[in-house]
Order: sequence, then structure tokens, then C-alpha cells
Amino acid sequence: MYHRIAAPTSDIWNIAVESANFEQHVRVLKVSYHVVSTTELVESIARQTIRKNSVALTFDDGYADNFLVAKPILDHYGLPATFFITSHYTDQKEEFWWDELEHLVLFSVHLPCLFSHTISGQFIEVSLGAEASLSPNAQQQHQHWDASETPPTARCALFLRLWQLLRPLPYLEQQLHLQRIRQWAGAIPSQRLAYRSMSLNQLQSLSSSPLHELGIHTVSHPALASHSPDFQRQELLSNQSFLEKATGKKPNVIAYPYGSYNQETIEAVTEAGCKAAFTTEERTVNRWSDRYRLGRFQVPNCTGATFTQRLQQWQKRD
Ligand SMILES: [Zn+2]
Repeated sequence: MYHRIAAPTSDIWNIAVESANFEQHVRVLKVSYHVVSTTELVESIARQTIRKNSVALTFDDGYADNFLVAKPILDHYGLPATFFITSHYTDQKEEFWWDELEHLVLFSVHLPCLFSHTISGQFIEVSLGAEASLSPNAQQQHQHWDASETPPTARCALFLRLWQLLRPLPYLEQQLHLQRIRQWAGAIPSQRLAYRSMSLNQLQSLSSSPLHELGIHTVSHPALASHSPDFQRQELLSNQSFLEKATGKKPNVIAYPYGSYNQETIEAVTEAGCKAAFTTEERTVNRWSDRYRLGRFQVPNCTGATFTQRLQQWQKRD
């Protein structure tokens, strides 16, 4: 599981792999593994004959770097991949809410000392004190912070609290809160070029390639398990029909945003005619795998040598 092939100044979720490292991963896979499309993988589960050392490559979210950086490398080595697209962002300058929130809270040069706001009935009041102005030292700490580790600064703690409260909300509510946070920070909506999603032309070009496939990643990237069955169905079907209209091909695989799903999600996915669904749970795929709970491993930004070791470790996990 990849998300971005890029080298952003901060990568708190460890979702960006530099292009030189990605090319090394692709070489390792080309030489030592059998890279299959997700369609082929799903068919081989159904046939109960998965070739040893098979690997399927997936990219979540639909960042433009997938098209601009990853695709040329994959094409050069002739390896297939599936790209899971969040369609609200297609042809938009808008950033994903998590990227903008990170930019606002961790990297604004000056912020007001006091933050107070209520989200989902939770009153948050945080005094940033001296951190209201971003020191070079704090900037460095934020650039190297891994969000799975204890927040090293008050800004990191505030970011994490906001992220946790915003994540389960529907898109429009997230945007209302984000607008309040922008106002507090004295910022306009962030539209950094490097954080854009693919355009419609790029999606069409990607989909017309015989190597690559597009998959469902919903319209607005909600944490599906936090929502009603109707909302889940709508997010899934609208995304599927958008991609079908855009490319002439009906996508039939999904990756659950944030890996969030419940029984109702699986029912909606089955109703939509999906053949398989990918989680973010770390496990290998075998012939007994549940097609609607397929595991994946998030690939870190590492060299080819480290990637080889990781692949060997992952293969031992079941
Ligand atoms: Zn995602």
C-alpha cells in the first residue's frame, strides 16, 4: 500500500515515498517477485491458486504525484497497479483536510495564543504560549514528527486532538470546522500544487493504460464505520458511477478510507458488485482470505535493500 510518491517537507503519517526509493522498490519487485493486478489477485483467490511471491501494488487517495511520478516508473518496468480514487478532489485545487490541518496547525508562522472551539460537543481550549510563534527548532520537530508517537509540542497535541475529532465527521462538517480553524490562523484555503489530486484527464489517461486500474475510495473519504448504511452506500455508489462515467470502466474493487469499515460497509460493497475490498490491516493474502477484508502493508520511505527485508518479514506474517 502506497499513498504518495513525493518528498514533502513533513510526512507525519509516513505516507510519502521518495521517487528514487520507489524506483528501487519497483526494481526489487521486478526481479524477485511476481507483480499482479488486483483483478488477477482476486481471480487467483477465487481459483484458490495464488502463485508464490505474488505482490499487488495499490495507491490510495488519488494524489497527482501518482500519475506524474509513480506511473512513469511503473510503466518503464511494465508493472501493474491499482489506484483508489477519492473523487470529490478530482480537478480541484482543494487539499485533503488532513494535509491542510497539518499545514495550518504545525507550520503557520504565527498563530493566536489561545485556541478555543467546540467539535462534536467537545470543548477544546488550548494555550499555545510561546509556541504561538513557530521557532526554527519547533519547525524542525514538526517536520520530523511521526503522528503515531507522543506529540512533542502543544501544536502537535492540538493537531492530533483536532484530527481525531474531525476524522469521523461528514465532509461538510469537516469543512465548517476547518474554516473556523483557518479564520483563527488568519489563513485562506491552502492550495499547494504538490498536494493536489489527479485531474480528470490524468484519471482517464491512467485508466486507459492496459497496466493500470482505478478503484473505489469513496467521494469524500469518510471513516465509513462512523456513518449510516445509507450514507455509506451513497459515498460508494457515487464514487463508482463517477469513475465509470469518466473512464468507461466500472470499478469493482474498493479500499476503505482510513481502513474503516463495518458489516454494513461489506453489505454495501457486495451490493455494488465489488469483487474485493482492501483494508489497512497488515496481513498477507492467501487462498482462504476473505475477499472483503484483504490485508495490506504500508510501504515506508526506504531503500531497495530495506524494502527487500520488509517484504521477507511481511511474507512471514499471516
Ligand atoms: Zn485514503
